[in-house]
Amino acid sequence: MAVLAAMFLFSPSANALPAWPNVGQGATGPNVTTVQYLLRHHGHGIAADGEFGPATKSAVVAFQSANGLTADGTVGAQTWPKLIVSVRQGSTGEAVRAAQTQLNRYGSGLAVDGQFGAATDRAVRTFQGAHGLAVDGVVGPQTWQTLVGGGGGGTGGWALPLDRAAAGRSDYNVGHWDGTPAIDLIVSYVPAYSMTASRAEHYSSTTCGIGLRLVRSDGARIVYCHLSARSVANGASVSAGTRVGTTGDTGNSGAPHLHIEIRSADGVKRCPQPLLLAIYDGVTPPSLSSLPTSNCGS
Ligand SMILES: [Zn+2]
Repeated sequence: MAVLAAMFLFSPSANALPAWPNVGQGATGPNVTTVQYLLRHHGHGIAADGEFGPATKSAVVAFQSANGLTADGTVGAQTWPKLIVSVRQGSTGEAVRAAQTQLNRYGSGLAVDGQFGAATDRAVRTFQGAHGLAVDGVVGPQTWQTLVGGGGGGTGGWALPLDRAAAGRSDYNVGHWDGTPAIDLIVSYVPAYSMTASRAEHYSSTTCGIGLRLVRSDGARIVYCHLSARSVANGASVSAGTRVGTTGDTGNSGAPHLHIEIRSADGVKRCPQPLLLAIYDGVTPPSLSSLPTSNCGS
């Protein structure tokens, strides 16, 4: 038992939830829309437009004051747990819209109609199964935290390879050190997620270390290198946002990081940076065949 307990404690990020993101004035996108729907649920009549302006900030400050929180106008680790509402099949209203907005970040394609029906239930269970959560169809605290803290995707069914707390926007715009079309995301031992629906093939080499090839149905592929562990079987079908492993320092790697390469369906290596930035920003990602092949990133 002692050995098992030790293995559990020291396996990196085994069942760790992503950190709650900080959402404050000037922010845009689906996490802002989510905050706005949840504030509406709590009786604040603001627009759910995805733009965190002064009206949203005032509503956050009022909500924080009413709940004994530091009234700083930013929704972070203290405010999210009070703001979220557990919803399940049969629930209706603004909190359901918030959950549907989040599920769509992971490619669920739901109508944001505030009606928690069978389609939303299926989407929740799929998300829970892909993220190691109890599959009960209830969007409760752990599922909420995994949804809003996770990488999600913009439109087009893409997801970030890392949690939002693990890498910021500028990290996704860095060119590779040797000028080749690739990116190194400098992180320690954190969860790595599939960026796209694909077949996950185990791949190893002396340079890549423990790697994965995520092969799309059109033949395009995304390679992850230097993992400390994989969490999918060889050949497993994964969706965008499915956890596929833990980053690390295997292979030819000077320090823990995630190396990513993209080959479009024609076999050409392409710059991952414009794709990653589009996913980060929640805008329609460029097609893989349109990605540049040189001078990647800034
Ligand atoms: Zn690299």
